[in-house]
Amino acid sequence: MPTIEKTTTSEPGAEAERRVLASVPAGVFVAGEWRAPASGRTFEVTDPATELPLTAAVADGGPGDAAAALEAAVAAQDGWAATAARERAEILRRAFDALVARTDDLALLITLEMGKPLPESRAEVAYAAEFLRWFSEQAAHVGGGYRAAPGGGQRLITHRQPVGPSLLITPWNFPLAMGTRKVGAAVAAGCTMVLKPAELTPLASFVLADVLAEAGLPPGVLNVVSTTDPAAVVAPLLADPRLRKLSFTGSTDVGALLLRQAADNVLRTSMELGGNAPLIVFDDADLDAAIEGTLLAKMRNMGQSCVAANRVFVHESVAGEYAERLTAGMTALRVGRGTEPGTDVGPLIDARQRNKVGALVDDAVAHGAVLHGGGPRGDVGFFYAPAVLTEVPGTARLTREEIFGPVAAVSTFREEQEVVAAANDTRYGLVGYVFTRDLARALRVGEQLETGMVGINQGLVSNPAGPFGGVKHSGLGREGGDEGIEEYLEVKYLAVAG
Ligand code: NAD
Repeated sequence: MPTIEKTTTSEPGAEAERRVLASVPAGVFVAGEWRAPASGRTFEVTDPATELPLTAAVADGGPGDAAAALEAAVAAQDGWAATAARERAEILRRAFDALVARTDDLALLITLEMGKPLPESRAEVAYAAEFLRWFSEQAAHVGGGYRAAPGGGQRLITHRQPVGPSLLITPWNFPLAMGTRKVGAAVAAGCTMVLKPAELTPLASFVLADVLAEAGLPPGVLNVVSTTDPAAVVAPLLADPRLRKLSFTGSTDVGALLLRQAADNVLRTSMELGGNAPLIVFDDADLDAAIEGTLLAKMRNMGQSCVAANRVFVHESVAGEYAERLTAGMTALRVGRGTEPGTDVGPLIDARQRNKVGALVDDAVAHGAVLHGGGPRGDVGFFYAPAVLTEVPGTARLTREEIFGPVAAVSTFREEQEVVAAANDTRYGLVGYVFTRDLARALRVGEQLETGMVGINQGLVSNPAGPFGGVKHSGLGREGGDEGIEEYLEVKYLAVAG
């Protein structure tokens, strides 16, 4: 039975928590300065492990602040686009070094505002920083083309130019990495930005702005506006003809709404939306790798990840052993505050998320699934203990919706074609996972999965050097890899006579 480690203000880490929180800049960040929001209002960020406010000083930006931020981005755009690629690369590289140097403080900040255990927060800082290094290496490699027209008489030249001022909207689940994945690419491409972080976890983005400014990013290139009213702040920006790009990471419903708004302004868009990942374990899989991969794909971020394994399909011949071992692994994980040494599973982000997970589990059980472990934990904090559901029928809601919690939903299959059809029977298409020792089958199934990404014999695909993104209702475009910078570039074609 998972236990909850309580903490008190006398714990040794409390001093570090106070120091780190005190170092976070407050305000809206416009044209290189931290300003009070026009309304003068602030809002609180809550520690999901204690339900207590971390700070009362987060600026509650409004449409006027957002307009000022876009103004600053527009003013900085031409100069920034004209900056040598090498200079942009070196700013990113210095910011990479600075993030790495501040790993402990940033990891603590992420754990405080989002809840994940400190080792996972450290991994997020490393992952987040790596985007800055990757895009620093990409910046100088943006190229073009030159060819003689096939019919003769002209030269055709192509080169790439920054899209222009971009609005970047990030979710709460990876407070730092979702920001650097966008900011790194935009900086490398020569775009200026307005970043709107999630209201549940804005603090890491404020530190990122400071780090980039210290690394030499000119004023106005990155502006940050936090708000409790995203609809009121975002809609006017999307309608402003000076904005040229929207990059959004979040839920499919909000993404679709923003796509409709962006259409009126014919904006370039990148959409990283929700997922419903299938994880398939074939009869010839290495079960050790399959269990390890499932635990990683399921439990990273307490299951609150767009690439979390949402539906596990196990071949009926190995299903018994797999379920037994997975249940043992999941229920052995220690639930607790993310700052406590030894914690494997932190709290969920808020009460709404915990209630949603509970409701999805109840629905699955009502439809005939068998529950092992799980349930809310503790009087304080949004804790939910890891659970395995077996014999999950296709009628259960969680086969169609993101669980976004520490619950593995397992069902069985007999034939390859049957499981591929079941895996693809969803509106989402972000990632799939395949465990088999048969290389031909891994590649065949990998090709047939209607997803942007496939993990083969591993439960983690995220890598700054790989193109992250989905198909169907999981989104448009890619972040990271060689493709990520292209999302912020336009191809300019010059036809030269003679
Ligand atoms: P969300 O859609 O509720 O919020 C995402 C962002 O949109 C936040 O900054 C929020 O303030 C803003 N927002 C919300 N309503 C808005 C509106 N009406 N107008 C403008 N902005 C608005 O998502 P969330 O709960 O923060 O994040 C979880 C979701 O994000 C999950 O669906 C998850 O799968 C998805 N996600 C996807 C990826 C990916 O790369 N595909 C990565 C992480 C998370």
